[in-house]
Amino acid sequence: MKTLPYGKQLIDDDDIAAVTAQLRDDWLTQGPTAARFEEALCGITGAKHAVVVSSGTAALHLACLAAGVGPGDVGITVTNTFVASANGIRYCGGRPRIIDVDADTGLMSLEALEAAIAELAAEGKRPRVIIPVDFSGATADLVAIERIARASGAVVIEDAAHSLGAEYQHDGRTFRAASCAHATMAILSFHPVKHLTTAEGGAITTNDAGLHAKLLELRTHGITRDPAKLTRNDGPWYQEQQSLGYNYRLTDIQCALGVSQARKFPGFVARRREIAAAYDKAFARPPLASRFSPLRVPAGVSSAYHLYVVRLVAQDGESLDDVAARRKSTYMQLREKGILPQVHYVPVHAHPDYKEIVDGQRFPAGDAYYASCLSLPMYPGLTDADVQRVIAAVGEVASA
Ligand SMILES: *Cc1c(COP(=O)(O)O)cnc(C)c1O
Repeated sequence: MKTLPYGKQLIDDDDIAAVTAQLRDDWLTQGPTAARFEEALCGITGAKHAVVVSSGTAALHLACLAAGVGPGDVGITVTNTFVASANGIRYCGGRPRIIDVDADTGLMSLEALEAAIAELAAEGKRPRVIIPVDFSGATADLVAIERIARASGAVVIEDAAHSLGAEYQHDGRTFRAASCAHATMAILSFHPVKHLTTAEGGAITTNDAGLHAKLLELRTHGITRDPAKLTRNDGPWYQEQQSLGYNYRLTDIQCALGVSQARKFPGFVARRREIAAAYDKAFARPPLASRFSPLRVPAGVSSAYHLYVVRLVAQDGESLDDVAARRKSTYMQLREKGILPQVHYVPVHAHPDYKEIVDGQRFPAGDAYYASCLSLPMYPGLTDADVQRVIAAVGEVASA
């Protein structure tokens, strides 16, 4: 019986052919194929500029640097995310301010955001960046977050690692995740479990030409060859480092895979939505309906379903600890049936390395969410029969 993980890439023969062709090309590291992949990402997101980098984590680092995060600066992000969302702030010497989420959606709580900004204001501080996370494939309330950010002078960096292909409505118009319609920059990840893969890889999107130029420079050591920017010019070989950048380039071998995957991307998202609809149907009916509640997608948002998360519903008299124990046994029993669910995420505030940073803060919604969440298999390569197998297995475990 094949095992069904919570997420997995889908690589076809044409992806393999694209990578093989690139290996026969003159360019191996970042070159013309990276530019083609960037164009494809602009096409998918609708953003003006895309800068591909070596990982989503590198994208977060550079986005924070480009936003001006430096020693002593505060950046706000949520507890229900992969730690990289917060680590980017720390790489720049900044201090993350971790805030709580809405327990029904797992997304940034606007009340928590406003409270954090008010507390910072009382200390005479303002956040430099706010990093909402489009958890599970649904966009955070970017319109409201951008409004709040503008009032406090913060730059919004949308962590869109989960949401490539998602859409949201505002004022009768449809906007795309990572389009930067309501964010200054957005970051993407191309890790194999994400919506399209380059093995490791990431990108930053923006509509700001100045930030685009800054990101290009930071990606390659802070070195420029642009004659308009050089402080002097010794000859055709001449280049200069103008700021401390990094080697965060993505190779053309990887970008060849990215370009090939990007062509199939609409089909990938469509399949994720079909699978989500099948799960939604099953979890809306007995016996599953009383025991599990799928993560709520906010009104007006069309999720790209990076994850399919269900929450265990507390049964009569159950405490949060009881729910957590039942979640663990559900996880273990599904594993025995060859289904490998996951828990997204161990909250940022619960990691030992964040203990001092969150010093005494409380996260009631994040804790309640973490105790009860389970991510079921969700990836385009799942067959209808696989999905029914998962649903049947969850049913058996729930009624055992
Ligand atoms: C995957 C992910 C990242 C980091 O991406 P990598 O490419 O693995 O470095 C950042 N934020 C979120 C929410 C992610 O899921």
